[in-house]
Amino acid sequence: MGSLSECCNSIQIRSPLLTESLEGWEQKRSQLYQQLQNLGDFRPGMISVNYRKCGKPNCACAQPGHPGHGPQYLWNTTQKGKSRAESLRLGPEVEKVARELENYDRFVGLCGELVEVNEQICRLRPVRAVEDEAELAQLKKKLQKKFSRRWRRK
Ligand SMILES: [Zn+2]
Repeated sequence: MGSLSECCNSIQIRSPLLTESLEGWEQKRSQLYQQLQNLGDFRPGMISVNYRKCGKPNCACAQPGHPGHGPQYLWNTTQKGKSRAESLRLGPEVEKVARELENYDRFVGLCGELVEVNEQICRLRPVRAVEDEAELAQLKKKLQKKFSRRWRRK
């Protein structure tokens, strides 16, 4: 990607298409919030299937070719760098957690869409008009101060 194509892309993004309307995007946003509302329970992670050797030398699992005891179903997750696992009973419990994990993927997808839709809304939302010149000058001064401070801090 060259600088030229980047430049053209940004121009394209800036000019709203004729078919786009603020109301349309706001409607889309409401639908997404509605979908979030109806999402149901969710949790991150995955379900893994495990077989383990118990370590007793006389046990069948000690025989060569034996897969080990199992299958044992586990819900695994890593949050803030810490991994956790919980044992799940095959049946309604695995079914329930599988649905919660699917809902988590939907939640992440909806959040991504919400960010995109909000960005479009921000782009299309008109800037407020400042008629009063004194107010405008004051606003400019205030903003200049705010962003110059931010600039120095970096
Ligand atoms: Zn064993």
